[in-house]
Amino acid sequence: MSYDKLTAIFNKIKEYNDIIIFRHFRPDGDCVGSTLGLKEIIKLTYPQKNVYLINNDYSDYLKFLGNEDQDVSDEIYQKSLAIILDTSILDRVSNKKFALCKEIVKIDHHIEITPYGDISWVEEERSSCSEMIAHFYNTFKNELKINSYAATCIYTGIVTDSGRFRFRSVNGETMRLAGMLMDVGIDLDNLYANLYLEDFDYLKFKAYVYNHIKMTKNGVAYLFVDKKMQEKFNLTTETASTSVSFLEGIKGSIIWIAFIENPDQTIRVRLRSRFVTVSELGERYRGGGHACAAGATVYNKKELNALLKEADELIKNYKENNSDWL
Ligand code: AMP
Repeated sequence: MSYDKLTAIFNKIKEYNDIIIFRHFRPDGDCVGSTLGLKEIIKLTYPQKNVYLINNDYSDYLKFLGNEDQDVSDEIYQKSLAIILDTSILDRVSNKKFALCKEIVKIDHHIEITPYGDISWVEEERSSCSEMIAHFYNTFKNELKINSYAATCIYTGIVTDSGRFRFRSVNGETMRLAGMLMDVGIDLDNLYANLYLEDFDYLKFKAYVYNHIKMTKNGVAYLFVDKKMQEKFNLTTETASTSVSFLEGIKGSIIWIAFIENPDQTIRVRLRSRFVTVSELGERYRGGGHACAAGATVYNKKELNALLKEADELIKNYKENNSDWL
């Protein structure tokens, strides 16, 4: 079934002379890597086609992977195929002009809430959308071309969305596809330096966070990065949001949450877990995502506390009914 979907998508790519690739807002390594990688593969294979990557927000952290394109006229959108990557619902597309395009192809690995697209290829169990693009390339490798730049972008998406190949979504196929990309040629020293070196200021922020982590009764580790803290450590909202990763790895704390105050005073919620599913909790607060990595938005402290209480209940129930957690 998946092969038919892939063939249908490949036929659409062959059919259109103009293709615009989209991704979700607040870009992460997976959506940036998969979109840049797919664009490069199409451009290498079909140099005569116009392929654009047009979005409304950008990531400083990922700019080492390369630039996206300037906006184009509405007439170009109207004759284009839209390929939307790594985006579960249309509300989350960064560039809303996808709606002008002639047809939409969706490629995604998130839990599907509201389906969309003329052709939709969704595999929720994949480690990343980038893994799906690697699989797409691999399926048609006799016809498609790749180079080390495209391989690096796609590999970046797999590495970042799988927590460096640690999450439960990683399987033999992830490793085989990552191996295939490595064989094309990836400068790992350079890539990991770009992804993981830290500024000294950021390290101080980390130290501060470690001293201020809070814990609910049943073990939800959490942190509220308000505007004051963001100013104190000179953080962008994007860097402040990475603090969720400091909370992981605490024994017994199988749910951890970072609350980040947005410039408009709403609060971004980043939910993470091991063993227990948190995507439904995210869905109850205007969000969603994966079983163990989801997002949400709350509007005030009262809602924040209500969400925390629900998370605490989730842990309590899980711990009472299971013995396999750590
Ligand atoms: P984040 O903490 O923002 O990195 O989100 C974790 C995962 O959940 C990512 O894969 C997001 O794409 C997804 N996610 C975050 N917020 C939402 C939302 N409002 N609706 C659906 N999925 C979301």
